[in-house]
Amino acid sequence: MLRKKILNLPDYHLYDGSIPIVDFDKLYPYEEAKTYVAACIKPLGKEYETKMNTALAEGWIDVYETPGKRSGAYSSNVYGVHPYMLMNYNETLDQVFTLAHELGHTIHTILASENQPFATHDYTIFVAEVASTLNERLLLDYMLSKTKDPKERIALLQQAISNITGTFYFQTMLADFEWQVHQLVEQGQPITSDKLKEITAQLDSTYYGDAVAVDELYHYVWSRIPHFYRTPFYVYQYATCFASSARRRSSRAGPRALGPPAWGACNPRGAKSPPPRAPGESCPATSCPPAACPTGSLRSAPASRSPCRAAAATRSWACT
Ligand SMILES: [Zn+2]
Repeated sequence: MLRKKILNLPDYHLYDGSIPIVDFDKLYPYEEAKTYVAACIKPLGKEYETKMNTALAEGWIDVYETPGKRSGAYSSNVYGVHPYMLMNYNETLDQVFTLAHELGHTIHTILASENQPFATHDYTIFVAEVASTLNERLLLDYMLSKTKDPKERIALLQQAISNITGTFYFQTMLADFEWQVHQLVEQGQPITSDKLKEITAQLDSTYYGDAVAVDELYHYVWSRIPHFYRTPFYVYQYATCFASSARRRSSRAGPRALGPPAWGACNPRGAKSPPPRAPGESCPATSCPPAACPTGSLRSAPASRSPCRAAAATRSWACT
């Protein structure tokens, strides 16, 4: 409702979420973006910082757009070597966050490869986006602490809010949709376009209430979500990962005391999985992210950028 008021709109539609509320067009040259990303992850410890500096300096990243290059961004591993990254860096604020995000995947992959044999080095989707979204949160904290430009501050907060609505709220709604549809399949019910539209309309009403004007075309949103067709029961993991990284960042000791991550050693499928815990025993934050912990409780894309997806065939973690 705040956006509706600031934008002076009679009705607020979902597509209005793409309208910037300040005129902010600052560009961030790649060399400057690298310094932000390298600085923001310092709370993760010296080892992480060293790996990050190596990843930024060693030519692992295909940075800029070129003719014929595919769109989006991803990090793709070569076991025994190191990950390579594809970017289409265009100097926008969004791309600075994409750089931090994909480097989160890259360093996670390095840690997993160093701590696991080939057979178990690959990690699950359930933990993948914890590493990437945590880096985005650290970048947000860092840039908010440095900026003296009120417009940049608003743009940063807008980016953070879009992340909450796009990566947590919207993905939860999609997961709800997916669960309902699969239930129909299990009951032997017919799945038609009209039925999918009906479920989406009901979810729109439940999740947005009267805060957002109804647009019938949005009831076909399921038709553009590739995960439903290629990687079922994927989307809920955006929300769980997002919540996990939020919890880790806001730990009682604060982000300055996050300590070194142990994602590689904590791979729940790997040889160095954490030992079983007693019922109710919490997961120590310094040794295992909440999402990877068998008993740890979970308490916790921006509109302009679609969320990440795992390209299972190539084992890369991609934003497209
Ligand atoms: Zn990602």
